[in-house]
Amino acid sequence: MNTKTLKRAVIKTLWPLLYHTKIHFISRLVYSGIGSILMFHRVCPADARIRIQGNSGMEVTPNYLENLIQYLIRLKYEIISLEKVHERLRTGCRGGKFIAFTFDDGYADNFIHAYPILKKYNIPFTIYVATNYPDGQLTPWWYPLEELILKNECLEFKEDGENQKFNCKSLPEKEITFHRLRTLLMGGANADLLSRVQKFFNFYNVDLFEATKGYMLSWEQIKTLNKEKLVTFGAHTVNHLALNRLSEKDATDEILKSKHRLESKLKDEINHFSYPFGSSQEVNEREFSIARQCGFKTSTTARWGNIFKKHKNHQECLPRIHVSEKRDLYDINFISLSINGIIPCMVNKFKRVVTI
Ligand SMILES: [Zn+2]
Repeated sequence: MNTKTLKRAVIKTLWPLLYHTKIHFISRLVYSGIGSILMFHRVCPADARIRIQGNSGMEVTPNYLENLIQYLIRLKYEIISLEKVHERLRTGCRGGKFIAFTFDDGYADNFIHAYPILKKYNIPFTIYVATNYPDGQLTPWWYPLEELILKNECLEFKEDGENQKFNCKSLPEKEITFHRLRTLLMGGANADLLSRVQKFFNFYNVDLFEATKGYMLSWEQIKTLNKEKLVTFGAHTVNHLALNRLSEKDATDEILKSKHRLESKLKDEINHFSYPFGSSQEVNEREFSIARQCGFKTSTTARWGNIFKKHKNHQECLPRIHVSEKRDLYDINFISLSINGIIPCMVNKFKRVVTI
């Protein structure tokens, strides 16, 4: 059993156990804070095909999104924009527990599938865009990678003169291959990432840009969405690279250039930022300090946690709750394990995530 399969088996037992013992009502007192920022990536209809968790775990269905909104409204959460999260923290203004919706990367389905639902319920939301996606210089290559692995029983190629062979007959093998190939392709120098990925797909006669056409928001869609009062756009760097692997100058450029690109396209100030990848492996004190100097009102990570009053002076490192329909076993109730703080408390060894 590999670690991912083991993790899933643990979740399958632990989530219902925690929920039914109602321990999250106790953790709520200490670990739920003043609210939560939810992190989504894609919102797309259910797919009957076999999928690889590395990708499908980043998706929720429109139905799940709508159920989640209704659930949060039923529980009387105040659903507010990131701008208001910033104001609440800054002024220490009291209010009910809040929820803020954020979407990373800039997938077109945020416009096609999420926006109509969010509009229906008047939900403010933020989309963080890595600007080389709409600029056509970057592709979500992990989707053609998934296709390739699902279609083949074995992948063999040469990388840096070395023969590489990956068996991907069964689903667990496909999951492992996906993870290993993604790590292999991302492992080399950042500057060559796109050409390395393109070389790999050329070997299998896959036109990378053609295969991912329509996956990401275009500038036209971004501009249309930006006219909507409910929407805030945030920066997410230019090339979606792990900032800890860049020099301080390059990391600053990545952040500021994406902020300025969005500002020039939208003729609007961009005040919010989210770190690519954003776990404590990729973001730390140095990255927080860089983002702080770039002048954002808030910067969000992917560290699993809720928002506390103490974040008032640490708005450059706000943790979030990753929303994953699959991880939460398709059960809407299990989101309460995160927003009531029991899972963040366990994951972070009883620490509240405020600074590092
Ligand atoms: Zn991202």
